[in-house]
Amino acid sequence: MHYDYDLIVIGAGSGGVRTARMSSSKGLKVAIIESRELGGTCVNVGCIPKKLFVYASEYGQKFEESKGFGWNIENSKFEWQTGNNFIVSSDEAFFLKSLPKKILIVGGGYIAIEFAGIFNGLGVETHLMYRGPLFLKGFDIDIRKKIKEEYIKHGVKIHFSKEVNSIKQNPPVDSSDKSNKFKYEISTKTGDSIQSDLVMFATGRKPNLDTLGLDKLKIEKNQDGTLIVDEFYRTSVKSIFAIGDVVGKKQLTPVAIAEGNVLTKYLTEGKKPFVNYKNIPTAIFSTPNSASVGYTEDEAIIEFNKDLQIYKSQFKPMKQTLGGSQTKIFMKLIVVKSTNKVVGCHMVGDYAGEIIQGLAIAIQAGATKKDFDNTIGIHPTAAEEFVTLK
Ligand code: NDP
Repeated sequence: MHYDYDLIVIGAGSGGVRTARMSSSKGLKVAIIESRELGGTCVNVGCIPKKLFVYASEYGQKFEESKGFGWNIENSKFEWQTGNNFIVSSDEAFFLKSLPKKILIVGGGYIAIEFAGIFNGLGVETHLMYRGPLFLKGFDIDIRKKIKEEYIKHGVKIHFSKEVNSIKQNPPVDSSDKSNKFKYEISTKTGDSIQSDLVMFATGRKPNLDTLGLDKLKIEKNQDGTLIVDEFYRTSVKSIFAIGDVVGKKQLTPVAIAEGNVLTKYLTEGKKPFVNYKNIPTAIFSTPNSASVGYTEDEAIIEFNKDLQIYKSQFKPMKQTLGGSQTKIFMKLIVVKSTNKVVGCHMVGDYAGEIIQGLAIAIQAGATKKDFDNTIGIHPTAAEEFVTLK
C-alpha cells in the first residue's frame, strides 16, 4: 500500500501532538506514528498523573494540620485503589497493584525527588539513594539543601554517596514469619545493604530511537544519543526534523510544545524558528514544591563574578501557626549589583510553581530589584515576601 503525506510525526508526545495538530490545521496532510498512547510521557506516565499523585500524597499532612483549625478527622487512611514485579521506573509506578510497605528510589533528579515525596506522603517507608553528596545537581545550592532538610523532616531516609551494586530477591515470606523481611536486598558499592519491597530507578531517560533504522540514514547524534539539529530543528538528514526530549535541549513539556509551534510555522509559513531557552521556569513537585527561574547562585558567580547581591528569606507560613507543621518557606533572589537586575529567583514552599510562573514574566522582562521593591504586596500571602526582601 502506498501512503502519501506532507508530514509524518513519529512519537505523539507533547511536541509531536502539537506539531501534528497545528500542521494539519494549516492544511498539511499529516500522519502520526506512535507505539503507545497519544500524549506521550507527560499525559500518560508523567506530569499529569504525577501531579495527581502529588495532590493525593499531600492530604496526610493536611489532615494533620487541619486539627489545629478545629477539624476532627478520624481514620484518615490512604487506600490505593487502582492497577509488577517490583523493580520499576516511574512509568510502572503509576500502575502498582498495591502500595509497598517500603520503597527504595534510586536517583537524584526531578523524578526521584518527586516520587520520594509522593510515596512518603502516602505512608510508605521511603528511602532515597543518590550517587553524589547532594541531590538535584544543577539546581540552586540553597534549594538543594532546603529540599534535603524538608525531606529529612518529613521522614524520608536519605542515602547520599551510595550506588546500587546488586539486587537480590529474598526467599518468599509466609504470613506466619514475623522476621519483617522485605522482598529485596539491595547491596551498595560501599558494602552495606538495605531491604525493600520495591525498587524504583529514576536515573534519567534515553531517546527511544533504536528501532527506527536511523543509523542506516547516518543521522548524526550527540554523545548521549539525542539527535543533533540545526536552528531549524533539521537533523543531518534534510527531510527529518526533531523536537522535544529527543533533541535533549530541555526535557520539559512546555519546551517541546514551544518547539512544535515554531517548527510548524517554519514548515507551513517559512518563518525562522525561535524558542527562547533563557529563563525557562521550572518546578519540582517535591514535598513541599520547589520552583526556579533564571540563574542559580553558582551560575551567576561564573557569569557576574562578585557583582552580585543575594537576598534570602526563610519563614513559617501563616497557615502553620495553627497547622503545627515545622515546614518553612524559603525564597531567594539573585541580583546583579551594577544593573540592579534580578537574574535568579528560587523558592521552596507551597504553590512555588504557581508563584514562580508569575515572577518568570518579570525576570524575562528584565525587572530590577527596585521594580520588585516598588511593587505592593498582596497581604497576607507568602508571595508578598518576594517584594519585601531586604
Ligand atoms: P534527571 O536527568 O533529572 O536525573 C537523573 C538522576 O539519576 C540524576 O540524579 C543522576 O545523577 C542519576 N543517575 C544517572 N545515571 C545514574 C546511574 N548510572 N547510577 C546512579 N544514578 C544515576 O532524570 P529524571 O529521570 O529525574 O527525569 C527525566 C527528565 O524528565 C528530566 O530531565 C526532566 O527534565 C523531566 N522531568 C521534569 C519534571 C518537571 O518538570 N517537574 C518532572 C519529572 C521529569 P547525577 O546528578 O549525578 O548525574
